[in-house]
Order: sequence, then structure tokens, then C-alpha cells
Amino acid sequence: MGKIQELSERLANQIAAGEVVERPASVVKELVENAIDAGATQIDIAIEEAGLRKIQVIDNGEGIAEEDVVNAFKRHATSKIHNRDDLFRIRTLGFRGEALPSIASVSHVTLETAVAGQTKGIFLKLIGGKVEVQEAAPLRQGTKLTVENLFFNTPARLKYVKTLQTELANIGDIVNRLALSHPQIAFRLVHEGHKMLSTAGNGDLKQTIAGIFGVATAKKMLPIEIEDLDFKISGYVSLPEVTRASRNYLSTIINGRYIKNFALNKAIVQGYGSKLMIGRFPIAVIEITMDPLLVDVNVHPTKQEVRLSKEKELTALLAEAIKEALQEENLIPNAADNLAFKKRLPRQDPAERPEQLQIDLAESAPAQNKSDLAYDRTSGQFYVRESYPQDVDNSVDKFGEKAEDNSPIDSQKADFSVAESPKETYQQDISVDKPFVKEALKDTSETYPQEIQEEEEVERNHPDFHLGDKAGEKMLAQALAEEAQESQQRFPDLEYFGQMHGTYLFAQSQAGLYIVDQHAAQERIKYEYFREKIGQVTDDLQELLVPIVLEYPNSDALKLKEQAENLAQVGIHLEDFGPNSFIVRNHPTWYPPGEEESIIREMIDMLLTTGTVSVKKFREATAIMMSCKRSIKANHHLNEMQARVLLQDLAKCENPFNCPHGRPVLIHFTNSDMEKMFKRIQDPHRTKETM
Ligand code: ADP
Ligand code: MG
Repeated sequence: MGKIQELSERLANQIAAGEVVERPASVVKELVENAIDAGATQIDIAIEEAGLRKIQVIDNGEGIAEEDVVNAFKRHATSKIHNRDDLFRIRTLGFRGEALPSIASVSHVTLETAVAGQTKGIFLKLIGGKVEVQEAAPLRQGTKLTVENLFFNTPARLKYVKTLQTELANIGDIVNRLALSHPQIAFRLVHEGHKMLSTAGNGDLKQTIAGIFGVATAKKMLPIEIEDLDFKISGYVSLPEVTRASRNYLSTIINGRYIKNFALNKAIVQGYGSKLMIGRFPIAVIEITMDPLLVDVNVHPTKQEVRLSKEKELTALLAEAIKEALQEENLIPNAADNLAFKKRLPRQDPAERPEQLQIDLAESAPAQNKSDLAYDRTSGQFYVRESYPQDVDNSVDKFGEKAEDNSPIDSQKADFSVAESPKETYQQDISVDKPFVKEALKDTSETYPQEIQEEEEVERNHPDFHLGDKAGEKMLAQALAEEAQESQQRFPDLEYFGQMHGTYLFAQSQAGLYIVDQHAAQERIKYEYFREKIGQVTDDLQELLVPIVLEYPNSDALKLKEQAENLAQVGIHLEDFGPNSFIVRNHPTWYPPGEEESIIREMIDMLLTTGTVSVKKFREATAIMMSCKRSIKANHHLNEMQARVLLQDLAKCENPFNCPHGRPVLIHFTNSDMEKMFKRIQDPHRTKETM
């Protein structure tokens, strides 16, 4: 006998099961999709022990005929496609004929099914994929499929199953998305007798959204609708004020199939333009209808990743639909033009610039509009910096990574970052240091390719300090080395004398001129305040006059129950209040009046995104986020008193030099810089040349 042997069908199924049924949630997904394909209008899902003990799906669909029941469990047996051409016209969710044999091969399955017009139903029992019992059953149109003891014969797979809570959250998440994709079907999801979800199934998407995200959120969703020759897009998007810290709340549905597509998610965010805070994502449910020829679903075993023809056209249309819907809502228009954000800092250390780039101020004056003007301390000259197109820059925000250290980049160094587009500084950024972000992303059920995550992160980050790898590190090292020295040096005694565009404060000291970014300054002050406050957990709680009721989608509610301890450590005490709701009756006394609810919601949001990181990291991230949200925005004129107080408070900061994201708070023109700029001190060489 040769070495190469055909695998038995059973073994082949177990291997295939790895692709199709890697966890309980994928079993639920496959079974529910079968029920949807069978034309059910009511689907009941009952789960025990996060699906490991039992998953039962009951539908009122067309049922399976007697002559088909055994075939349904054979590999590549399907009623949904018959030939190759059908593969390009798929209108059903399933088509590979792999799910039932794969599931059956790693569990105990019982099936009860009946087709309308028959005289009896069928009962089938399989263990590890082998039919044990086949007999007549009572007549009830539709199918009841029960999967028990999942992975009983593949213990290795059990190891990959995370905690029961996480698995259950995944099941909740997948059922939520299936329900959103099919508002005409009434879904019910019950875990050990507790209802996790029920939707009306009356075809109204908004009602389905309310069933999942809560009525209050649904009320803040705007309808979108647009159509061209190829695509029809409809759905709901949240008002820009209703945001979440992750992309998990974006659901895109193509021809009734929930899919994951980075380009579509990006288009949604683009549709919001600058109305959306950086690092925040809206809630959206987008239904797209198109000719099945334009979408290839046969790319990935889970069929969640698809290939789109005309993807560019589709994403442009989607962004436009959202933009229009938000415009009609007459939100205050944001003048910030996104294109102005595309400037990038040079990736080179200015000190290493080639000689020819260093030009005298007088010569560079006309260039000021287009390029950034910077000052090279070593040569004592100004030079024009090139701007880099956004798409070429993959550099990582070195300073962002360092933000946690609070390493002050001294005000002397800060002048390397002069002349950034002022709009840039308005943008709020709640991104945190990278390992932390990665940690957070690990736990989200939606996984994006790493490069894309990074690409997007870079895109969303400020261009400040986007230095090339080597040069950036060098500059950072230099800055850190000088930090020790600089920390001795007191923060300058600033005398305020004016304000520009409600964005920059001007101040002077004996040592020259300072320009302060007021948003960055306030962020720093608030960050240090919140960091301290959030860190103090006392038993001193203030009772709320009206308790706050919080409603979350089932998957989030489960995560919160799991994380209750972490929340308690920052003074938030959640009490169960109905299936997916909590009630909060008190809060730490330091919360500013009127902001109790928003602070509580923001902290919970942060916890949902950051997952199970340490309390320390959670506090840190929360402090950054809260400081950013509560700091004065651009175009806000401070009166003289407020400006002076701001500068005084800044001076009291532990690190007054950087905002929590690592960007400079203030820049400095020394007296001699000023003199040089006005040619009060003539450089003898240059003078000779120019004369
Ligand atoms: P696929 O869905 O890709 O066809 P499956 O292994 O999931 O493959 O199912 C095999 C076949 O069993 C389906 O093609 C369908 O004919 C039948 N089937 C499975 N579940 C149901 C159901 N709930 N109602 C009716 N028919 C079903
Ligand atoms: Mg199927």
C-alpha cells in the first residue's frame, strides 16, 4: 500500500470543521444562516453554557424533505447551487454545503424537520457525524436543529475557546448582526433561560436597531438612502454626537449578508468628515443591494470577507449618502477642510538637512504660504520644510508612543514643529500608546489586517512629529537626554499679551516670545487633573438624584458584567437592571455637576474598547480621553482673565510642555531668533552675498 491515502470522509470533515466551526459563535452563525436561507420568518436560538453544551435553532422555514435529510450532512452537499454559473449569482447565505457535515463531525446533532404538505416529519440523530437514529417525527413545518457537546471529540479545539463570557458575547454579536441584516425576521436569542435579544421582525430596520442598541440610540440615528445604476444603499447612521470608541458598531450588509470590509467602514467614517472626533466611530447599519455578479463571496470560509468589483464607486457613493444625510440635518458646518490636514513634517532631522535647503528668511518669505518654515538651531538659520503627501507616510507617531512617559520635550526643542496647519491642532485625538491599542484591538471580534490598522492609525494621527524612523528616534533620544537638564529649568514666567484666531495665545518672558496652543494647554491641565482624580478611589460617593439607566447591546452588557471589578476601581458601580441594562445610583464626589452621566458613559465606553488591560492603563486612557473632550476647541476666544488663568494653571503642571498625546503645548522664539528674523543681527557671510 502506498504512503498516500485518501482521508476518510469523517476525518476530512473534522479538518474542514476547523475552518467553518472554529468556535460556538460560528456554529450559531451557520445554523441561523441556514434558517434564513430556508425562508424562515421566525428564528429562535437557545444557548447553554455559551454554546458548548447546547445550541438549538428553531425555524419556521421550508424544512428538509425526507429524501434529503441524510444528504444534508454529506460534505459539499447543498440545495443552493447546482453548477459553476450559480457560484456567480449567489443569493443565499450558504452555498458550500460544508456547515452541517462539519458541525456534525465535532458534536452530537439532532434534527427535527418537516416540509409543508407532507404527512410526517423526520427525526435524525448523529454522533460525530455518523447517523445513529432516523425515524418519523411529529409534523411541524420548519426545522429544529440541536447541537450538543460541541468539540467533544476534538479537545484541542476546546482550548482555543476563550472564556464562556467572551464566547457568549461573540454569539450575541453575531446574532445581532444577523438580525440587523434581516429586519423582516423575528429573532429571539435566549441563554440559559435569559433573553438576550428579541426583534420584532416587522421589516422595520429602525425597530431592529432599537431592539439591539436601545431606543435612545435608535432615536439618534438618521436614515440614509442613495442609488445609482449599480448600487442601492439604505440604512441608518448615528448623529455625530453618538459615537463609540471602536468600529464594532459599524455593520455593513451586502445583499442580506453581513460582511466585514475595511474600505466600506472607512467610507462611513469619511462620510462624517471632520464632524467626527478623531478616534471615535459612529454607529451605522448599512444595507447595500447590488447585482450578485458584482460581489464575490467565495473568498473566505466564513464568507464574511467578500471581493467587490467597483469598490471605489461604491465607497464614494456610501460616503456621499452619509455626507448628505448629515448635511440635511443642518449640523453646524465645520469649516475645517480635510485637505489641509495632508501636510506632513519632514522625516529628517533638521540638523541633517542638506545645505541647499537651508535658506535665509528673506529669501524664504514667499514660500511661507506653501511650506513650513523652521529654524535650525545648530546652523542658526531658517529653512523651508517640504511637505509630504499623506499616502506616502507610514511612519509611526514616535511621540505618541512615548506619551505615557510624560517625557517633556523641552520648549526649546519644540520649535522644530512650528508652523503646522492650525486646523490640525483642533483635532482631538484619543489614541493611546500603541501596545495598548493593540491590546484593545485583540479583544474586538472584528479583526482587521494589521497593516490596515496601522495605516489608519497613522492617518488619524496628527502629522506633528511624524518623523522617519531613524531621524525620529534620534530626535526623541536627544529630547529625552535634554529632559533631565531641562526639568531643572523652571517653566518660563509667561506674560500674556494676546490671542490669535481663538486658537493660539501669545506670551512673552525675558527670554523671548512664546506661542501656546490653547487646546493642547488645556488638555494637559485637564489630563493631569483627571489622572489624579480617577486614581483616587474612596468610599465617598454622591447619590444621584435621578439614577442613570444604561442600556447596552447584549455582547457589551456581558463584557461589562465581567469587568465590573475594574469599573468599581474607578468608582463606577453598576447594578443589574433588566437583561441588558444597568443602573448607576451614585458616583465619586469629584465629578463636575452636570457631567455625571457623560463621564460615566465615557468611562464605560473606554473600558469596552480597552478590554481587560490593567486598571492603571484604563485610568490613563480615560484621563486622556476625558481631557481631550473637555478642553476648549478651536475658535474659542478666551477673555484675558481666562487666558491668564490657563497659563498659570499650565505652569503648575507636572509636564507643561506636551499635551497627553505628546504634541507640544508651546513653542518659543528666543530674543536672538527674533533679532535674526528681522535682520537686526546681520550674518556677515549672508550680508556679503546679498549685497
Ligand atoms: P449550505 O448552507 O452551504 O447549502 P449546509 O451544510 O449549511 O450547506 O446545509 C446543507 C443543506 O441542508 C442546505 O443546502 C439545505 O438544503 C439544507 N438545510 C440546512 N439547514 C436547513 C434549514 N434550517 N432549513 C431547511 N433546509 C436546511
Ligand atoms: Mg449553510
